[in-house]
Amino acid sequence: MDALVALCKRRGFIFQSSEIYGGFNGFFDYGPLGAELKKNIRDCWWDDMVRRREDIVGIETSIIMHPKVWEASGHVAGFTDPLVDCKVSKQRYRADQLFFAPVVIDGNTVGYVSALEGDNTAGDLQAAAEALKRKKAIQGQLAPVQPRDMTEAKPEEIALIPSPATGEPGSLTEPRSFNMMFQTNVGAMTDGSSVAYLRPETAQGMFVDFKNVVDTGRVKLPFGIAQIGKSFRNEITPRNFIFRSREFEQMEMEYFIHEDADWAKCHEEWIVWCEAWLKSIGLPDSHLSRHTHPKEKLAFYSRGTVDIMFRYPFGVQELWGIAARGSYDLGQHAAASGKPQEIFDEATKKKFVPHVIEPAVGVDRIFLAVLCAGYAEEDVTDEKGNVEKRTVLRLSPRIAPVKVAVLPLLKNKEQLVGRAKELYTKLKRRYAVFYDDSGNIGKRYRRQDEIGTPWCVTIDFDTIEQPGDTFTLRERDSMQQRRITEAELFRLLDEQVF
Ligand code: ATP
Repeated sequence: MDALVALCKRRGFIFQSSEIYGGFNGFFDYGPLGAELKKNIRDCWWDDMVRRREDIVGIETSIIMHPKVWEASGHVAGFTDPLVDCKVSKQRYRADQLFFAPVVIDGNTVGYVSALEGDNTAGDLQAAAEALKRKKAIQGQLAPVQPRDMTEAKPEEIALIPSPATGEPGSLTEPRSFNMMFQTNVGAMTDGSSVAYLRPETAQGMFVDFKNVVDTGRVKLPFGIAQIGKSFRNEITPRNFIFRSREFEQMEMEYFIHEDADWAKCHEEWIVWCEAWLKSIGLPDSHLSRHTHPKEKLAFYSRGTVDIMFRYPFGVQELWGIAARGSYDLGQHAAASGKPQEIFDEATKKKFVPHVIEPAVGVDRIFLAVLCAGYAEEDVTDEKGNVEKRTVLRLSPRIAPVKVAVLPLLKNKEQLVGRAKELYTKLKRRYAVFYDDSGNIGKRYRRQDEIGTPWCVTIDFDTIEQPGDTFTLRERDSMQQRRITEAELFRLLDEQVF
């Protein structure tokens, strides 16, 4: 992760938000290359999810909606995380991410240890238990630790569990519910009546506009409404770089189906679709897995949720959640607004509230996943037999921020530069292209490898001296070179980029 974070900063993918003021925890800026990469991820999703399908339409709804939306959806009452405070350090922890264990020696509890959730939480707790045993100089057999999280702590245990910040017990509070919605005030008044929220998900926009789309969009069941946009959550512990932040971007789609439709089959089809889509933008199968939420942990209205998980360097974590939500959301809004959210069934001549399957994914989590999967440091041998290190980002051509770099072999040879500029201008009309004439050609290739550019095109002496007007095409992953004409280059890009 450290190498990746450093690369993101060095090459202008991601900066800390408000860095000159010391940064702002949980917020990030995307630099020139990051903005391109992010846009490509969004565009690929929009093309595949909306434009290339006949059953899905896209919308864009406002970030601040009527506060009643969030009452009806259940967010005002229930969009909470359990929070634990450390009264001494003023640190705050998510109770379900703060683990503890009694330290048991020869059957007696001699103290408690705690650790924040990590790659190896049980191992961290075991090590802390051994350290405590040594510190207290107690002889005897230390039992293997039995980790629990703070939501499972008994009231009498809380005072005995050390705070991760101070290492001492006595300062942690009992878990309490913390609502993650950011509040704001709309209008000149700042009393209770003006309270509004920044949306914590884009999904409610699709439910609230359901009738508008049905009445205007010429849609027939089954059909979907999709949206891409910013969401905001006041996460207690933003962490793992852009994985969990307080302002992020979601790509969500609500797929409405008949109340009698086979929802389980439709759910499975969407999981398969999402997995295939992730592979189409270059995520390897080996890093993907599924997590089915156990029945007892589902919300009462939920029929099933499956998360597509990704193996990040900091552990296997949720990337994309695909939930079967029944008719809960439309039903809630119908009840709260007094406006029926129904569809007329021609076959049975009855009205009903459609059910919904919801694939919901974060753009930033995909961004991080493609960087993690694509990042490599490797030894390569140059033409003179010297071994050197290269950093390479193996990004799919579909999402790479720069598709092709145009490199005149020498910058002081007018003919080379003229031909290179001509090609660059032509390519630029359709693709994100980079022109680079500084430094030796090997260095220029390395600079492009590091930002994930799939191809470099070098305009060399063969281009101007030999018949055929060909260039050297150098491929990022294999580092192989071959000659290519302009028409062939455009064909290659057309096949691989869209
Ligand atoms: P988590 O359990 O990781 O907090 P969640 O189950 O609350 O996530 P959802 O409400 O299902 O997440 O949101 C859908 C998707 O939005 C997630 O799968 C994830 O990709 C993205 N997402 C959610 N919270 C964040 C966040 N704080 N930062 C970045 N992306 C997020």
